[in-house]
Amino acid sequence: MLSQMNEYYLKILNERNIKATAIRILILKTMSGFDAAFSLSDLEIALDSVDKSTISRTIHLFHEHQLIHSFEDGSGSVKYSVCSRGCTCSVDELHAHFYCNYCKKAFCLENIAVPAFSLSEGMAVESVNLVIKGYCGKCRKPKHKLK
Ligand SMILES: [Zn+2]
Ligand SMILES: [Zn+2]
Ligand SMILES: [Zn+2]
Repeated sequence: MLSQMNEYYLKILNERNIKATAIRILILKTMSGFDAAFSLSDLEIALDSVDKSTISRTIHLFHEHQLIHSFEDGSGSVKYSVCSRGCTCSVDELHAHFYCNYCKKAFCLENIAVPAFSLSEGMAVESVNLVIKGYCGKCRKPKHKLK
């Protein structure tokens, strides 16, 4: 069942202390294959033979084990992206995201760290949702501006 090509994904699951099963490998492989951050429904469409509750349970599990992270893309939709290897999703590892107003895709900007904030006493950062909006390299500069 598990081919050599799946060994990479097997290793990633092991690193995150997630018991590897054929379906989890398939889901991780599909997640890794997206060219942008994905939503639950993107995954359901890509894996239409997989039971929807299995997909949502797997997303939850991967999220809990910091294999993927989630963010709001600014359009009200929650997107997920596979974490880089070794990411522990701690506050100082948070990065910005980019949302294209034209193709509606969202991307990780892993080299743009969110700034450090000096908060009032007693406050602490738990999450930051920094989304930069514009047009992506594929959409280029649109002829008509939005609104
Ligand atoms: Zn992470
Ligand atoms: Zn675009
Ligand atoms: Zn990201």
